Amino acid sequence: MRHRIAVVGGGPGGLTFAHVLHRHGHPVTVLERDPAADARPPGGTLDLHDKLGQRALSKAGLLGEFQALSRPEGQAMRILDTDGTVLRDWLPRPGDPDHPEIDRGQLRDLLLGPLDVRWGSSVTEVVPGTRDGVLVRFADGRQEAFDLVVGADGAWSRVRPALSSVTPHYTGVSFVETALDDVDTRHPALARLIGDGSLAVYGANRALVAQRNSGGHVKVYAQFRAPLDWHTDPDRHLGLNTGLDAGLDLNDAAAVRASLLALFDGWAAPVLDLLRHGGDFVHRPLHVLPVGHTWAHVPGVTLLGDAAHLMPPLGAGANLAMLEGAELAEVLAAAPGDLDGVVRAFEEQMWARAGRWAKMTTAGLDRLVSPDPAEALALFDELQPS
Ligand SMILES: Cc1cc2nc3c(=O)[nH]c(=O)nc-3n(C[C@H](O)[C@H](O)[C@H](O)COP(=O)(O)OP(=O)(O)OC[C@H]3O[C@@H](n4cnc5c(N)ncnc54)[C@H](O)[C@@H]3O)c2cc1C
Repeated sequence: MRHRIAVVGGGPGGLTFAHVLHRHGHPVTVLERDPAADARPPGGTLDLHDKLGQRALSKAGLLGEFQALSRPEGQAMRILDTDGTVLRDWLPRPGDPDHPEIDRGQLRDLLLGPLDVRWGSSVTEVVPGTRDGVLVRFADGRQEAFDLVVGADGAWSRVRPALSSVTPHYTGVSFVETALDDVDTRHPALARLIGDGSLAVYGANRALVAQRNSGGHVKVYAQFRAPLDWHTDPDRHLGLNTGLDAGLDLNDAAAVRASLLALFDGWAAPVLDLLRHGGDFVHRPLHVLPVGHTWAHVPGVTLLGDAAHLMPPLGAGANLAMLEGAELAEVLAAAPGDLDGVVRAFEEQMWARAGRWAKMTTAGLDRLVSPDPAEALALFDELQPS
């Protein structure tokens, strides 16, 4: 008998899992909270590593299509001093570790391919060990039973409580994200400054990073160390002088821009143009799960991706989620009789690998948003191939 398998979450991890299972001819139910694929902006560009995300795409039979869409030139990285001096200017060379960039929306559409996603399925709870199997409850009051439920529902997973009482904690670093459109025509000087890939400027406990997506779209991240509620009183929490007595309304783009310009005061004018020309601002406080998060195995339920091991966004999270999805799907398809044994072995392997990455990315975040900006530069130097 075919097992009834559901994956909660249609992000990179859940869709890769479903795509690979589907490729092996195994039915899978994809439960996604969003009402449609394009219900919200898909987010910034992702670099997919040859040994992680690209391996997953190969297992999904999508590597060729990825190579046609992805941007190897997006691996370029330029680092400036706060006065605008170019400190490093790396261009991808043949033989560099291969991690081309792809827009999240393009990746999602690739993975969606043949899948029949149940959009608008907001899962509220998962109850293992019932007579019918694992019960999935939905926000609209419905419920449905499966033999295996895979929680790929991200940082604030509703599946995770069935396995672990751990919740994400704040890292002490917040991002505020904005974006520029048609940068090559509307802001040609900034377009040249950013180049084909990323531009980063590191100061004491703060950084500005711009990343080119396809079609002249650029995402900009203001990154800084601050308490979670920094916006309630930016003058006190960030040492600014904005005079915002009532706190900062995060939906007021002009006020957020003014606060960020005050935070990065004194930085080179072209760098500050990234903020001046940005549109809306989105607050993204960085949360993580503890390094080495594991749980006591529960038959019929597991997690992958951010739901299992949310870590700082240093280029690994989507890659790991995709590889985990592909690997779990492959072993399930290869050994459909031993569902529980296969899931147990998968969890052990995931925990070991994700634990190593969580440790690295946690240390990396400490160095990138550090009191000593030289730490960020040293980290990039260490990561460059010799
Ligand atoms: C600024 C930034 C830059 C990043 N850059 C990179 C990068 O370059 N490379 C990289 O590898 N990683 C990067 N990451 C990390 C990466 O985005 C995540 O690790 C990755 O998206 C995790 O994938 P996932 O499938 O586990 O979860 P998610 O992408 O979070 O997907 C979860 C899905 O589950 C759905 N969902 C949530 N709750 C429910 C529910 N209750 N019921 C049903 N569906 C639900 C959500 O709508 C969503 O579609 C970055 C992160 C940030 C914040």
